Amino acid sequence: MVFILLSIAALILTKQYLEQREETSFIISKTLQDDMAELTYILSKNITKDATIRSSHAILDRATLTNDYIAAIFVLDDNDILITTDPHYNTIPSMEEIYHDETLSFYDRLLFKKGIEGYIRFYQGETLHQLKLIFIFDHDEIEKHFQKSRSNFVIYFGLLPILILFSSLIIIRYVISLPLEKLRQFAYYQTSIPKAFKLKELEAIRSSMVQTFSRLDEEQKELYKMARTDRLSGLANRNALNEYLERLIADSLHANQEFAFLFLDIDHFKAINDELGNPIGDELLKKVSAKIKAVLPSNDFVARVGGDEFVIVLHQYETLTELTTIVDRIQQSIQDQWIIENNPINISSSVGIALYPKDGVEVTSLIQHSNIAMYEAKKKGRAQYYFFTDDLNTKVQDTIALDKAMRQALEDDEYELYYQPKTDVQTGAIEGVEALIRWISPTHGVISPAIFIPLAEENGFIVKLGDWVLQEAIYQQIKWKEKGLDIQISINVATKQLLDSNFEYKFTNLLQESRVDVSKIKIEITEYLFLEHNNKNLHVLHFIHDKGIEISLDDFGTGYSSLSYLKKFPIDTLKIDKIFMDDYNTPEGAIFLETIVKMGQTLNMKVIAEGVESKEQVEYLKSIDCNTYQGFYCSKPLPVKDFELFYTTYDI
Ligand code: C2E
Ligand code: MG
Ligand code: MG
Repeated sequence: MVFILLSIAALILTKQYLEQREETSFIISKTLQDDMAELTYILSKNITKDATIRSSHAILDRATLTNDYIAAIFVLDDNDILITTDPHYNTIPSMEEIYHDETLSFYDRLLFKKGIEGYIRFYQGETLHQLKLIFIFDHDEIEKHFQKSRSNFVIYFGLLPILILFSSLIIIRYVISLPLEKLRQFAYYQTSIPKAFKLKELEAIRSSMVQTFSRLDEEQKELYKMARTDRLSGLANRNALNEYLERLIADSLHANQEFAFLFLDIDHFKAINDELGNPIGDELLKKVSAKIKAVLPSNDFVARVGGDEFVIVLHQYETLTELTTIVDRIQQSIQDQWIIENNPINISSSVGIALYPKDGVEVTSLIQHSNIAMYEAKKKGRAQYYFFTDDLNTKVQDTIALDKAMRQALEDDEYELYYQPKTDVQTGAIEGVEALIRWISPTHGVISPAIFIPLAEENGFIVKLGDWVLQEAIYQQIKWKEKGLDIQISINVATKQLLDSNFEYKFTNLLQESRVDVSKIKIEITEYLFLEHNNKNLHVLHFIHDKGIEISLDDFGTGYSSLSYLKKFPIDTLKIDKIFMDDYNTPEGAIFLETIVKMGQTLNMKVIAEGVESKEQVEYLKSIDCNTYQGFYCSKPLPVKDFELFYTTYDI
């Protein structure tokens, strides 16, 4: 850019200089020609004969003196020098050296020619004489003249562009570069908004940048807020909680101070969503959120971290009593009856409490431990709070380990079914067996189902494990039948397994593929099936029963003790739980046992007593007309081979 500017400036100045030089040359030439014309005229008039020529010397001298550019003047007669104003010049210039050449510029003519010539004409008598007058150029003088304008040119050419360049740079810097730099800085750091610029274009860019950045700034703030706010409730979200905790932990560490980390979960919230719909569930959550916020001491923190899960951080308490008072107040505040779109809803909450630093010194462990404590509160019956303890943690860690190992055991084929006989009370004959699962661990030996079945039921693994049990037991029945040991097998089926959406499909397939004799299969269910999902329960039980399979109600008397379902559901056998058998010899125990047996007879159901360990118990059962018993008195649950041996050698 600068180079182009410089080149243009140089071109303009050179052109100017050349024109100027030519013009000056023209003026010099003109004065020489004028002088020549004047001198030839004067001399033509004055000279009358050759003799007077020499007397013109003075005129010629004067002409030489008055014109700086004339070094000498010759008067020639043909090629003889008649007069010369300077005897040093005594060579007559040739024709080529005379000024005439019109192809040359005035400057070149002055510089490269030696002089100009004119003619003096006079009459001597009747004869016209002609003499030649030659002005010899004073090249030094001419050169001196141009030398001056050349140095002027150099000054203009050299300094002016530098000056122009310099001032252009200054102008560019202050008018364009600096404002642009300010804009750049603003674009990157937005530290200070640049003031209005003088250049219109820059000013347009500046003001649009300022507008854009202030809009971006607002959007960023909005995004920041959104990224930290829970949309539904307007409370802080998990991101905000993490940030808050990191700060609080740093402060508490510094001040050596405790705080309480509460994990609050609304009890049975899923049921509200399922029964009343998500919009009502959402509305309830909004109201509950506002209520929690309202009852919290102003400096304490609450965030919604999941569907119906809240985290509350309390640090304004002196004693644990004070802390539990606040927790109570929070729980009480949401335990009200809520009316959402005319629906009265009763809720309660379970709270787990972890204390910093005792139960955790960083965010993850505090969340984890308060969560563990919250689940314990749920387990203990909900609507309460529970403090995290190390024992609880160990229990939970054990459960996690058990969960993992239990699943792996299925992959590793470590489960086995044991079989326990069911004996006819009156005849002592074995009329069937119950299949009872065992986990044969290579490291821990035989593990009782009491250890892992409750966990499998809780976390849903029972569905997969139950499939295995059904398959194993059904094929065992077929194998025994082939061996001539055609015995009925009772199989325990968990509530979760029965209510699984694929149960009917899988069970039908199994029956079809195995072609088992359905009368040799019995399903044992527990009263927990009747707690919820009534229509579904009824359906699945009819589905089983309609296939010709008998149904036993296990652990009768220990669970959901409504007798109405006995009439409603297709149940063939009542299994009296062991705890009643243990009490058979007390008046209350005996009344209970007798009542159940009578009721079974009335409802046309068989009755079987579990956990029978003594002859006396069998005698008693005989006396009250109980059909069947199961218990160690006859046999413990046995592995397949042992049972086969037991059965074939069994002697009534
Ligand atoms: P349950 O179905 O009520 O089984 C009877 C339990 O009482 C068995 O315990 C059995 O060994 C025990 N028992 C039988 N007679 C006596 C006795 O005379 N004295 C004493 N003290 N106990 C006796 P087990 O095998 O430990 O099973 C416990 C529970 O685990 C079962 O109770 C059942 O609810 C569950 N379970 C076992 N196997 C399976 C299975 O394959 N699937 C499912 N879903 N649950 C199973
Ligand atoms: Mg059972
Ligand atoms: Mg039982």
